Amino acid sequence: MPRIEVDEKRCKACELCIVACPYEVIELANHFSPLGFHPACMVKPEACTGCMLCAFVCPDVAIEVYK
Ligand code: SF4
Ligand code: SF4
Repeated sequence: MPRIEVDEKRCKACELCIVACPYEVIELANHFSPLGFHPACMVKPEACTGCMLCAFVCPDVAIEVYK
């Protein structure tokens, strides 16, 4: 099953990946990252298709997509 991993040491919580994902897979987490942001995380992992749109739009190169 495709999945993403967010590098919480890079994510600045800009939410671009949340807007880009066609399947509403990503939201901001409740916890704080080492940078002091609420990092992006998968909330509907079963809906991820591995399309990589989230990774393409992330300005901080924080998302890896695994297929
Ligand atoms: S790979 Fe595609 S479907 Fe999966 S979280 Fe990223 S944008 Fe959404
Ligand atoms: S686009 Fe990148 S920096 Fe912005 S919220 Fe998503 S993972 Fe974090």
